[in-house]
Amino acid sequence: MMDVRREPPQFWPHATAVAGVAAALGGILCIPEATRPVGTFVVGLGGIALLATWIVANRKLKEKLAWYEEQLANVDQLEDNVRRQRSALDELADGLDVMIFLTDTRTRILYANERAIRNFRFDDPEGQSILAVTLSSEIVDLVQEVADGGIPLSVETTLHHPEERNVVVQAWRETSADRVFVSIYDLTSLRRLERIRRDFVANVSHELRTPLASVRLLAETLLDDYDDRELAERYLGKIVKEVDRLTRITDDLLTLSQLDSGRINKAPTDVTVLVSSVVHQLIPKAKAKGLELSLQSAGPLKASVDEGQLTQLALNLVDNAINYTSQGSVTVKLTEYPDTFRMDFIDTGLGLAKEHQARIFERFYRVDKGRSRGSGGTGLGLAIVKNIAEAHGGKVSVTSELGHGSTFIVDMPKE
Ligand code: ADP
Repeated sequence: MMDVRREPPQFWPHATAVAGVAAALGGILCIPEATRPVGTFVVGLGGIALLATWIVANRKLKEKLAWYEEQLANVDQLEDNVRRQRSALDELADGLDVMIFLTDTRTRILYANERAIRNFRFDDPEGQSILAVTLSSEIVDLVQEVADGGIPLSVETTLHHPEERNVVVQAWRETSADRVFVSIYDLTSLRRLERIRRDFVANVSHELRTPLASVRLLAETLLDDYDDRELAERYLGKIVKEVDRLTRITDDLLTLSQLDSGRINKAPTDVTVLVSSVVHQLIPKAKAKGLELSLQSAGPLKASVDEGQLTQLALNLVDNAINYTSQGSVTVKLTEYPDTFRMDFIDTGLGLAKEHQARIFERFYRVDKGRSRGSGGTGLGLAIVKNIAEAHGGKVSVTSELGHGSTFIVDMPKE
């Protein structure tokens, strides 16, 4: 802390010196002519003494003035420090991931941070009641209770203005003044993630339960009648099918969890060679359905990708195109741009209605459950495709018309 002492200015040295010089002059002019030389000498001596006093006093006065100037500079510096601390506090409050209000005891806003202003879309909340800004009577009641009782309180509630949000509101009273701090933390995305996780666990359990229940039923029937060889062969074949389905689901879940962990192993790869090998792998399946499967590319396409992941992406999309097309063709088209490349997976199949197009990339979302199961689908293929594209810094989209086929488009950076 700087030492700032205030002392009253002292004018006596000036007054004494001025009075002394005036008296000397007066004396010289008033003494008689005969004794004037001696008088002049004596008065002159007095004048010199007074002048010396004045010079000393003047120096002290200058020192005093310098001291005052120094104190004033200290005050300026103090004010500057206070100003800087205030702006640092403002910046801190503005940078926080939480809305903050300071109100008086009648719930009138004295301060709001940037996030509060932006989130409630209220340009100048200061001076307004917190009700006018938040349109939440629950927040007003909470603030009033804290202002009256002085005990900190918090509540989790839903705000409806300007849009629906789950928030936790905390309020506490300032100890040195009758003001109330209010913090509002937005939990909407956290709650949404919790809901997604809950739904996902429920979906996984459901997906695993169905084949497990089938396996159990088939095995029980066999137990009752294990002498019937024909029945045993039929049922054992079904059991193998269900177990394969379970394996596919757990494999896809494992792939998703690996992708979620963000592990990616990029290396320079010729994408044309990679996609061509996927196409060749699936030509027999396409042929068996009477479909023409082909690849269009302008030659080698070099990019830095995770080979395993990109193979999985292409496999899922070509496999889907074959599964959901009953006649016509499936074409994979590769296009190279200066910094990116594009893969189009075009089919002449079922197509997708608008309302499904945005949702098919969700985990376990299927348009037709029976059809998906019939073709060995798990409902996770497109979720895996989306994760892989995004892990590479790319994106996947779909254009489709019901009954006229679909095109899945993957855009990826080359590096
Ligand atoms: P599934 O294992 O069921 O194929 P996906 O995640 O791969 O799961 O696809 C989700 C859903 O999207 C499918 O059930 C299907 O309804 C739809 N779909 C995917 N690809 C196509 C396509 N090429 N044409 C039409 N519908 C498709």
